[in-house]
Amino acid sequence: MLALELYRSMSRYVAARALGERAPGLIAGPLAPLRLVDREEPRPPAEGWARVATRLSGICGSDLAALSGRSSFYFSPLVSMPFVPGHEVVGELMDDCGDLPSRTRVVLEPVLSCAARGLEPCGSCQTGATGRCDRVTVGHVAPGLQTGYCADTGGGWGATFVAHRSQLHPVPDSMPDRRAVLVEPLACSIHAVLRGRPGAGDSVLVVGAGTVGLLAVLARREFTEAGRVVVVAKHRRQAELARAFGATESVTPGEAVPALRRATRAHLLDPERGPAYLLGGVDVAFDCVGSKPSLDLALRTTRAGGRVVLTGMPEAGADLAPVWFRELELVGSYAAGTEITERGVASTFDLAIDLAGEAPLDGVVGAVYPLSRWREALDHALAAGRLGTVKVAFDPRSN
Ligand SMILES: [Zn+2]
Repeated sequence: MLALELYRSMSRYVAARALGERAPGLIAGPLAPLRLVDREEPRPPAEGWARVATRLSGICGSDLAALSGRSSFYFSPLVSMPFVPGHEVVGELMDDCGDLPSRTRVVLEPVLSCAARGLEPCGSCQTGATGRCDRVTVGHVAPGLQTGYCADTGGGWGATFVAHRSQLHPVPDSMPDRRAVLVEPLACSIHAVLRGRPGAGDSVLVVGAGTVGLLAVLARREFTEAGRVVVVAKHRRQAELARAFGATESVTPGEAVPALRRATRAHLLDPERGPAYLLGGVDVAFDCVGSKPSLDLALRTTRAGGRVVLTGMPEAGADLAPVWFRELELVGSYAAGTEITERGVASTFDLAIDLAGEAPLDGVVGAVYPLSRWREALDHALAAGRLGTVKVAFDPRSN
Protein backbone atom coordinates (compact mmCIF):
# COMPACT_ATOMS: atom_id res chain seq x y z
CA MET A 1 0.00 0.00 0.00
CA LEU A 2 1.07 3.60 -0.53
CA ALA A 3 1.96 5.66 2.52
CA LEU A 4 3.96 8.71 3.51
CA GLU A 5 6.66 7.65 5.92
CA LEU A 6 8.66 9.77 8.32
CA TYR A 7 12.04 8.12 8.75
CA ARG A 8 14.79 9.12 11.11
CA SER A 9 17.93 10.37 9.57
CA MET A 10 19.72 12.50 12.12
CA SER A 11 21.78 14.51 9.66
CA ARG A 12 18.74 15.25 7.54
CA TYR A 13 16.69 15.87 10.65
CA VAL A 14 19.13 18.41 11.99
CA ALA A 15 19.56 20.01 8.56
CA ALA A 16 15.79 20.29 8.28
CA ARG A 17 15.75 21.80 11.74
CA ALA A 18 18.24 24.51 10.80
CA LEU A 19 16.54 25.19 7.48
CA GLY A 20 13.07 25.00 8.99
CA GLU A 21 13.85 27.91 11.22
CA ARG A 22 15.12 30.08 8.39
CA ALA A 23 12.75 29.08 5.62
CA PRO A 24 9.66 27.14 6.63
CA GLY A 25 8.70 26.51 2.97
CA LEU A 26 11.63 24.15 2.62
CA ILE A 27 10.18 21.43 4.85
CA ALA A 28 8.33 20.13 1.80
CA GLY A 29 11.56 20.28 -0.22
CA PRO A 30 14.32 17.76 -0.85
CA LEU A 31 15.49 17.76 2.78
CA ALA A 32 12.13 16.74 4.19
CA PRO A 33 12.38 13.64 6.43
CA LEU A 34 9.27 12.31 4.65
CA ARG A 35 8.97 9.99 1.65
CA LEU A 36 6.21 8.26 -0.30
CA VAL A 37 6.72 4.49 -0.06
CA ASP A 38 5.03 1.26 -1.00
CA ARG A 39 4.80 -0.43 2.43
CA GLU A 40 3.36 -3.64 3.72
CA GLU A 41 -0.08 -3.16 5.22
CA PRO A 42 0.14 -3.07 9.02
CA ARG A 43 -1.37 -6.17 10.67
CA PRO A 44 -3.54 -6.19 13.80
CA PRO A 45 -1.04 -6.97 16.63
CA ALA A 46 -3.55 -8.61 19.01
CA GLU A 47 -7.19 -9.35 19.76
CA GLY A 48 -9.37 -6.27 19.73
CA TRP A 49 -7.50 -4.64 16.82
CA ALA A 50 -8.73 -4.20 13.24
CA ARG A 51 -7.61 -2.75 9.92
CA VAL A 52 -9.02 0.61 8.84
CA ALA A 53 -9.00 2.09 5.31
CA THR A 54 -8.32 5.82 5.46
CA ARG A 55 -10.92 8.07 3.82
CA LEU A 56 -9.48 11.45 4.89
CA SER A 57 -6.59 12.41 7.18
CA GLY A 58 -5.79 15.96 8.23
CA ILE A 59 -2.43 17.73 8.39
CA CYS A 60 -1.96 19.06 11.93
CA GLY A 61 0.37 21.73 13.29
CA SER A 62 2.14 19.07 15.33
CA ASP A 63 2.82 17.11 12.10
CA LEU A 64 4.37 20.21 10.56
CA ALA A 65 6.44 20.77 13.71
CA ALA A 66 7.72 17.17 13.58
CA LEU A 67 8.57 17.53 9.89
CA SER A 68 10.44 20.79 10.34
CA GLY A 69 12.35 19.48 13.37
CA ARG A 70 10.69 22.11 15.54
CA SER A 71 9.26 19.63 18.03
CA SER A 72 11.19 19.18 21.26
CA PHE A 73 13.67 16.29 21.61
CA TYR A 74 11.58 15.48 24.71
CA PHE A 75 9.30 13.55 22.34
CA SER A 76 12.03 11.37 20.81
CA PRO A 77 11.53 8.36 23.17
CA LEU A 78 7.75 8.66 22.69
CA VAL A 79 7.82 7.82 18.97
CA SER A 80 9.15 4.85 16.98
CA MET A 81 10.65 5.22 13.49
CA PRO A 82 9.84 4.96 10.71
CA PHE A 83 6.21 5.91 11.18
CA VAL A 84 3.31 6.94 8.97
CA PRO A 85 1.95 10.27 10.27
CA GLY A 86 -1.74 11.07 10.41
CA HIS A 87 -3.73 11.14 13.65
CA GLU A 88 -6.76 13.15 12.45
CA VAL A 89 -8.58 10.42 10.59
CA VAL A 90 -11.93 9.25 9.29
CA GLY A 91 -11.85 5.78 7.79
CA GLU A 92 -13.77 2.61 7.16
CA LEU A 93 -13.32 -0.64 9.08
CA MET A 94 -11.94 -3.47 6.93
CA ASP A 95 -12.58 -6.12 9.62
CA ASP A 96 -15.19 -6.68 12.30
CA CYS A 97 -13.96 -5.08 15.54
CA GLY A 98 -15.84 -6.15 18.67
CA ASP A 99 -19.35 -4.73 18.35
CA LEU A 100 -18.47 -2.73 15.19
CA PRO A 101 -19.02 -4.61 11.89
CA SER A 102 -16.70 -4.35 8.93
CA ARG A 103 -17.45 -1.30 6.69
CA THR A 104 -18.45 0.89 9.67
CA ARG A 105 -17.25 4.46 9.15
CA VAL A 106 -15.17 5.51 12.16
CA VAL A 107 -13.08 8.35 13.53
CA LEU A 108 -9.85 7.59 15.35
CA GLU A 109 -9.06 8.58 18.93
CA PRO A 110 -5.31 8.43 18.37
CA VAL A 111 -3.82 8.06 21.87
CA LEU A 112 -2.25 4.58 22.24
CA SER A 113 -3.08 4.05 25.90
CA CYS A 114 -3.19 0.99 28.19
CA ALA A 115 -6.31 -0.59 26.61
CA ALA A 116 -4.81 -0.55 23.09
CA ARG A 117 -1.49 -1.85 24.40
CA GLY A 118 -3.07 -4.85 26.19
CA LEU A 119 -2.06 -3.62 29.65
CA GLU A 120 -3.85 -3.29 32.96
CA PRO A 121 -4.98 0.36 33.08
CA CYS A 122 -2.55 2.82 34.68
CA GLY A 123 -3.88 5.34 37.21
CA SER A 124 -4.78 7.88 34.53
CA CYS A 125 -6.47 5.36 32.22
CA GLN A 126 -8.53 4.11 35.20
CA THR A 127 -10.10 7.56 35.48
CA GLY A 128 -10.65 7.90 31.71
CA ALA A 129 -7.83 10.42 31.33
CA THR A 130 -6.27 8.36 28.53
CA GLY A 131 -4.26 11.32 27.24
CA ARG A 132 -2.26 11.13 30.48
CA CYS A 133 -1.43 7.41 30.05
CA ASP A 134 1.98 6.48 31.52
CA ARG A 135 2.44 3.36 29.37
CA VAL A 136 2.69 4.75 25.83
CA THR A 137 6.06 3.05 25.26
CA VAL A 138 5.24 -0.57 26.25
CA GLY A 139 2.80 -3.38 25.46
CA HIS A 140 1.48 -4.79 22.16
CA VAL A 141 2.84 -2.07 19.87
CA ALA A 142 6.08 -0.08 19.60
CA PRO A 143 6.49 3.20 21.51
CA GLY A 144 4.22 5.94 20.23
CA LEU A 145 2.21 8.53 22.09
CA GLN A 146 -0.43 8.26 19.36
CA THR A 147 -1.26 6.50 16.12
CA GLY A 148 0.64 8.60 13.61
CA TYR A 149 3.84 8.41 15.69
CA CYS A 150 4.12 4.61 16.10
CA ALA A 151 6.08 2.29 13.77
CA ASP A 152 3.61 -0.61 14.17
CA THR A 153 0.17 0.90 13.61
CA GLY A 154 0.49 2.87 10.40
CA GLY A 155 -1.31 6.21 10.31
CA GLY A 156 -3.81 8.25 8.37
CA TRP A 157 -1.28 9.35 5.73
CA GLY A 158 -1.36 5.81 4.39
CA ALA A 159 -4.01 3.74 2.61
CA THR A 160 -4.63 1.56 5.67
CA PHE A 161 -3.67 1.44 9.35
CA VAL A 162 -4.61 -0.65 12.37
CA ALA A 163 -6.50 0.54 15.43
CA HIS A 164 -7.78 -0.93 18.69
CA ARG A 165 -11.50 -0.94 19.47
CA SER A 166 -10.86 1.54 22.30
CA GLN A 167 -9.63 4.06 19.69
CA LEU A 168 -12.64 3.85 17.37
CA HIS A 169 -15.82 5.89 17.37
CA PRO A 170 -18.53 5.22 14.76
CA VAL A 171 -19.82 8.35 13.03
CA PRO A 172 -23.42 8.96 11.95
CA ASP A 173 -24.17 8.30 8.26
CA SER A 174 -25.39 11.88 7.95
CA MET A 175 -21.94 13.31 8.79
CA PRO A 176 -19.79 13.97 5.70
CA ASP A 177 -16.12 12.89 5.78
CA ARG A 178 -15.03 16.54 5.67
CA ARG A 179 -16.74 17.08 9.02
CA ALA A 180 -15.78 13.74 10.53
CA VAL A 181 -12.08 14.41 9.92
CA LEU A 182 -12.44 17.48 12.19
CA VAL A 183 -13.68 15.43 15.17
CA GLU A 184 -10.15 14.82 16.54
CA PRO A 185 -9.03 18.48 16.49
CA LEU A 186 -12.47 19.46 17.81
CA ALA A 187 -12.06 17.01 20.71
CA CYS A 188 -8.64 18.56 21.52
CA SER A 189 -10.21 22.03 21.46
CA ILE A 190 -13.11 20.98 23.71
CA HIS A 191 -10.59 19.42 26.12
CA ALA A 192 -8.56 22.65 26.13
CA VAL A 193 -11.61 24.82 26.84
CA LEU A 194 -12.67 22.53 29.70
CA ARG A 195 -9.10 22.55 31.07
CA GLY A 196 -9.25 26.37 31.04
CA ARG A 197 -12.78 26.28 32.50
CA PRO A 198 -13.60 29.99 32.11
CA GLY A 199 -16.46 30.96 34.42
CA ALA A 200 -19.65 32.87 33.60
CA GLY A 201 -18.77 36.31 32.24
CA ASP A 202 -15.01 35.70 32.23
CA SER A 203 -12.98 37.43 29.54
CA VAL A 204 -11.13 35.05 27.24
CA LEU A 205 -8.18 35.44 24.89
CA VAL A 206 -7.52 32.93 22.13
CA VAL A 207 -4.09 33.39 20.55
CA GLY A 208 -4.09 31.88 17.06
CA ALA A 209 -6.88 31.27 14.57
CA GLY A 210 -5.71 28.07 12.92
CA THR A 211 -7.79 24.93 13.33
CA VAL A 212 -7.32 24.56 17.08
CA GLY A 213 -7.88 28.26 17.84
CA LEU A 214 -11.02 28.48 15.73
CA LEU A 215 -12.44 25.25 17.14
CA ALA A 216 -11.62 26.48 20.67
CA VAL A 217 -13.74 29.56 19.97
CA LEU A 218 -16.57 27.26 18.92
CA ALA A 219 -16.14 25.01 21.98
CA ARG A 220 -16.06 28.06 24.25
CA ARG A 221 -19.55 29.02 22.97
CA GLU A 222 -20.87 25.47 23.40
CA PHE A 223 -19.45 24.54 26.80
CA THR A 224 -18.98 27.77 28.78
CA GLU A 225 -20.77 30.98 29.67
CA ALA A 226 -17.62 33.06 29.28
CA GLY A 227 -18.08 36.70 28.29
CA ARG A 228 -15.94 38.67 25.87
CA VAL A 229 -13.70 36.58 23.58
CA VAL A 230 -10.80 38.25 21.80
CA VAL A 231 -9.08 36.21 19.09
CA VAL A 232 -5.63 37.00 17.74
CA ALA A 233 -5.75 36.22 14.01
CA LYS A 234 -3.07 37.03 11.46
CA HIS A 235 -5.26 36.74 8.38
CA ARG A 236 -8.61 38.21 7.29
CA ARG A 237 -10.36 34.89 6.56
CA GLN A 238 -9.34 33.57 10.00
CA ALA A 239 -10.79 36.70 11.63
CA GLU A 240 -14.09 36.25 9.74
CA LEU A 241 -14.37 32.62 10.83
CA ALA A 242 -13.47 33.47 14.43
CA ARG A 243 -16.37 35.94 14.54
CA ALA A 244 -18.70 33.40 12.90
CA PHE A 245 -17.72 30.91 15.63
CA GLY A 246 -18.57 33.38 18.42
CA ALA A 247 -15.57 35.67 18.96
CA THR A 248 -16.46 39.18 20.15
CA GLU A 249 -13.47 40.76 18.49
CA SER A 250 -10.49 39.72 16.41
CA VAL A 251 -7.19 41.57 16.35
CA THR A 252 -3.85 41.10 14.61
CA PRO A 253 -0.82 40.13 16.74
CA GLY A 254 0.49 43.71 16.53
CA GLU A 255 -2.80 45.20 17.79
CA ALA A 256 -3.34 42.65 20.54
CA VAL A 257 -1.80 44.27 23.64
CA PRO A 258 -3.41 47.72 23.24
CA ALA A 259 -6.74 46.16 22.22
CA LEU A 260 -6.71 43.93 25.31
CA ARG A 261 -5.78 46.90 27.48
CA ARG A 262 -8.89 48.72 26.24
CA ALA A 263 -11.12 45.66 26.46
CA THR A 264 -10.14 44.85 30.06
CA ARG A 265 -9.32 48.39 31.28
CA ALA A 266 -5.84 47.23 32.19
CA HIS A 267 -2.65 49.22 32.65
CA LEU A 268 -0.07 48.92 29.85
CA LEU A 269 3.65 48.86 30.65
CA ASP A 270 6.58 49.02 28.22
CA PRO A 271 9.70 47.21 29.46
CA GLU A 272 13.20 48.31 28.41
CA ARG A 273 13.36 45.29 26.11
CA GLY A 274 10.73 42.88 24.84
CA PRO A 275 7.02 43.30 24.19
CA ALA A 276 4.61 45.46 26.20
CA TYR A 277 2.47 43.83 28.85
CA LEU A 278 -0.56 44.48 31.01
CA LEU A 279 -1.27 44.81 34.68
CA GLY A 280 -4.82 43.52 34.58
CA GLY A 281 -5.94 41.62 31.50
CA VAL A 282 -8.07 38.64 30.56
CA ASP A 283 -9.26 35.98 32.98
CA VAL A 284 -8.28 32.99 30.83
CA ALA A 285 -5.96 32.81 27.81
CA PHE A 286 -5.51 29.94 25.36
CA ASP A 287 -2.25 29.71 23.43
CA CYS A 288 -3.33 27.82 20.32
CA VAL A 289 -0.06 28.36 18.42
CA GLY A 290 2.76 27.19 20.67
CA SER A 291 5.39 29.65 19.46
CA LYS A 292 7.50 31.82 21.73
CA PRO A 293 5.69 35.03 20.67
CA SER A 294 2.23 33.46 21.09
CA LEU A 295 2.95 32.19 24.60
CA ASP A 296 4.63 35.49 25.55
CA LEU A 297 1.49 37.31 24.40
CA ALA A 298 -0.81 35.05 26.46
CA LEU A 299 1.36 35.34 29.58
CA ARG A 300 1.69 39.12 29.26
CA THR A 301 -2.02 39.86 28.86
CA THR A 302 -3.58 37.56 31.49
CA ARG A 303 -4.63 39.15 34.79
CA ALA A 304 -3.00 38.27 38.10
CA GLY A 305 -4.32 34.93 39.31
CA GLY A 306 -5.61 34.10 35.82
CA ARG A 307 -5.08 30.96 33.82
CA VAL A 308 -3.07 30.30 30.65
CA VAL A 309 -3.78 27.09 28.74
CA LEU A 310 -1.08 25.57 26.52
CA THR A 311 -2.96 24.07 23.61
CA GLY A 312 -0.36 24.13 20.87
CA MET A 313 2.79 22.05 21.36
CA PRO A 314 4.98 24.73 22.98
CA GLU A 315 8.33 25.89 21.64
CA ALA A 316 11.04 26.78 24.16
CA GLY A 317 11.97 30.31 25.06
CA ALA A 318 8.95 32.17 26.44
CA ASP A 319 9.64 34.50 29.37
CA LEU A 320 8.09 33.01 32.53
CA ALA A 321 8.47 36.20 34.62
CA PRO A 322 4.71 36.94 34.48
CA VAL A 323 3.88 33.42 35.71
CA TRP A 324 5.77 34.24 38.89
CA PHE A 325 4.89 37.91 39.32
CA ARG A 326 1.20 37.53 38.34
CA GLU A 327 0.78 34.14 40.05
CA LEU A 328 -0.60 32.70 36.83
CA GLU A 329 -1.87 29.15 36.56
CA LEU A 330 -0.15 27.53 33.60
CA VAL A 331 -2.28 24.59 32.43
CA GLY A 332 -1.36 22.00 29.81
CA SER A 333 -3.95 20.53 27.48
CA TYR A 334 -2.94 17.48 25.47
CA ALA A 335 -5.22 15.31 23.34
CA ALA A 336 -8.57 14.36 24.91
CA GLY A 337 -10.09 11.88 27.33
CA THR A 338 -13.07 12.11 29.64
CA GLU A 339 -14.82 15.35 30.57
CA ILE A 340 -17.07 16.41 33.40
CA THR A 341 -19.57 18.96 32.16
CA GLU A 342 -22.95 20.21 33.39
CA ARG A 343 -24.41 17.41 31.27
CA GLY A 344 -22.47 14.74 33.18
CA VAL A 345 -19.40 12.62 32.49
CA ALA A 346 -18.67 12.02 28.81
CA SER A 347 -15.91 10.99 26.45
CA THR A 348 -14.45 14.11 24.80
CA PHE A 349 -14.87 12.35 21.44
CA ASP A 350 -18.60 11.81 22.00
CA LEU A 351 -18.97 15.53 22.77
CA ALA A 352 -16.96 16.35 19.64
CA ILE A 353 -19.03 14.07 17.39
CA ASP A 354 -22.23 15.74 18.62
CA LEU A 355 -20.81 19.23 18.10
CA ALA A 356 -19.36 18.36 14.67
CA GLY A 357 -22.86 17.30 13.61
CA GLU A 358 -24.40 20.71 14.23
CA ALA A 359 -21.60 23.33 14.10
CA PRO A 360 -21.07 25.55 11.03
CA LEU A 361 -18.03 23.61 9.82
CA ASP A 362 -18.72 23.59 6.08
CA GLY A 363 -15.64 24.78 4.22
CA VAL A 364 -13.26 24.33 7.19
CA VAL A 365 -11.54 21.51 5.28
CA GLY A 366 -10.44 23.71 2.42
CA ALA A 367 -8.26 21.41 0.33
CA VAL A 368 -7.82 17.66 -0.13
CA TYR A 369 -4.75 16.12 -1.83
CA PRO A 370 -3.75 12.63 -2.95
CA LEU A 371 -0.65 11.25 -1.18
CA SER A 372 1.40 11.61 -4.39
CA ARG A 373 1.05 15.41 -4.17
CA TRP A 374 2.36 15.54 -0.59
CA ARG A 375 4.85 18.35 -1.22
CA GLU A 376 2.08 20.62 -2.50
CA ALA A 377 -0.16 19.56 0.37
CA LEU A 378 2.48 20.42 2.99
CA ASP A 379 3.28 23.75 1.31
CA HIS A 380 -0.44 24.52 1.32
CA ALA A 381 -0.77 23.53 5.00
CA LEU A 382 2.22 25.70 5.94
CA ALA A 383 0.71 28.71 4.19
CA ALA A 384 -2.91 27.82 5.04
CA GLY A 385 -3.72 30.96 7.03
CA ARG A 386 -2.39 33.29 4.32
CA LEU A 387 -4.23 31.32 1.62
CA GLY A 388 -7.55 31.48 3.51
CA THR A 389 -7.59 27.73 4.17
CA VAL A 390 -8.12 26.28 7.65
CA LYS A 391 -7.52 22.55 7.24
CA VAL A 392 -5.68 20.64 4.53
CA ALA A 393 -6.20 16.87 4.33
CA PHE A 394 -5.02 13.80 2.42
CA ASP A 395 -7.32 11.37 0.65
CA PRO A 396 -5.18 8.24 0.09
CA ARG A 397 -7.89 6.73 -2.16
CA SER A 398 -7.44 9.45 -4.79
CA ASN A 399 -4.49 9.91 -7.11
ZN1 LIG B 1 -2.60 4.10 30.76
